[in-house]
Amino acid sequence: MSLVFRGAGDRPLRTKIEELILYGRAWKLMEEVDLPYVRNRLFDHAGCEDKSAWELKATFSIPETPQSILEELVEIQVQKGRVENLLPYRQRWMMDAMDIMMPRPSEVKRRFEELEQQKSSDAALAYFYQLSQKSGYMQMEQIEKNEEWMTRTDSGDLEITINLSKPEKDPKVIALQAKAKKSGYPTCVLCLENVGNGGDLQRPARRNHRVLPVTLAGENWGLQFSPYLYYNEHCICFNNLHVSMKITEKSFVRLFDFVDRFPGYFIGSNADLPIVGGSILSHDHFQGGRHLFPMMKAGEQFLFSAKGVEVYRVNWPMSAVRLRGADREAMIAMALGMHERWRLYENPALKIVAETDQPHQTITPIVRRDERGYCMEIVLRNNRQNGEYPDGIFHPHQPWHAIKKENIGLIEVMGRAILPARLQQDRMDLVEWLMEKKRHELPESLIHHRHMVDRFLDNPQIPQDFEEAKMQVDQAIGCVFEKVLEDAGVFKQTSEGIQAFDHFLRTCQ
Ligand SMILES: [Zn+2]
Repeated sequence: MSLVFRGAGDRPLRTKIEELILYGRAWKLMEEVDLPYVRNRLFDHAGCEDKSAWELKATFSIPETPQSILEELVEIQVQKGRVENLLPYRQRWMMDAMDIMMPRPSEVKRRFEELEQQKSSDAALAYFYQLSQKSGYMQMEQIEKNEEWMTRTDSGDLEITINLSKPEKDPKVIALQAKAKKSGYPTCVLCLENVGNGGDLQRPARRNHRVLPVTLAGENWGLQFSPYLYYNEHCICFNNLHVSMKITEKSFVRLFDFVDRFPGYFIGSNADLPIVGGSILSHDHFQGGRHLFPMMKAGEQFLFSAKGVEVYRVNWPMSAVRLRGADREAMIAMALGMHERWRLYENPALKIVAETDQPHQTITPIVRRDERGYCMEIVLRNNRQNGEYPDGIFHPHQPWHAIKKENIGLIEVMGRAILPARLQQDRMDLVEWLMEKKRHELPESLIHHRHMVDRFLDNPQIPQDFEEAKMQVDQAIGCVFEKVLEDAGVFKQTSEGIQAFDHFLRTCQ
């Protein structure tokens, strides 16, 4: 790569600006007609004084992400004293640079709808997905740090991920955050007001964020991709208003409206109660994307058919029912009936109590389309706690907390574990311990994993090498995830549990 300038002066800075422009052109963040405008805006943004003509002398190989160019550019800004050397400020400067090259939200909407009409909704989504990645909104370098593997269990091949994409927090930023006044704007990370927001010490800069307006059940919602990308084309759909999650008939209508417009994506909602819901209950939203989760591949037992809807019990550690049908109104009516019945269902022998001083029962609904029509999975949830299970009766139980103590949300319900970063070190330490073959002396630092070790690593084949030891540890972690899903199931996979589950489902005919 070499760019040659006729002028003198700010050469490193100037080179990087031209590289960024080449990147933006290659990934179609802008059109040729935008070039002089973008270049001038970038000159100002970067404080570049060398505005002489330039020519490309050799081919510059376009990177997959803008990160390395942006890092070099912002480093020059820091050296020049134009940007304070703290991550939130560096981020804001970088996101601003990307925003300069990008189409406005209205242009994105126009282009999306054009592609949707002229080609297909998949072509439109592909455009929007590429834009969200190449703009740096989804930080692919960070996302690629995540660890991921499959574990074969009796419940199928479960997907295990360790989320390592969140950067370490700088203590200086933490100290400043403590002193800074909370602005309360935008109200939360899902609010539409994040689009174009410069961020502050609390909120990440979202200058390069774009949201596609969509209409669901006659209401204004927004579609975006998840900056954390937990699976392929992981998208988020959120209400334009900051309103709490609440599963009602309208929620089902919204889910079906979504798959009618985007038949290539599934869409699901987290449950609307704490402990069994996702991490954000204060802003109604769904998550979707193009991925076939383990639960979707799980086998099924046909139970009955009513009004054109076939009802199956899914062979899955959590209590999942599958509806199939071609008539969306009939599907919605069946889902609504089940939701209402489930909210009132009681079975004290199985510890299923619908209400104490507050309601405990809700569902996690997921809708997709396949060659047979609509397919909807409804996962029954209960968030009650008691003395024996203070974290939740149908929540990961204490022996597994070293692996998972957080809520089992939508993505995990479907068989994809998102495990916290703290696990990565333990995982490597466990591998090392297995290699050393001191299996009866679990060191103090790993004692919190004793339940997993006793249950799943107690009598392993002695690992021959690092890879084999790692395989054994990963297999054990995956088996714990299956146990965690069993804990979260309201009807257990025992003959008593299955019988009660089937009985409940048959009352929904
Ligand atoms: Zn919000």
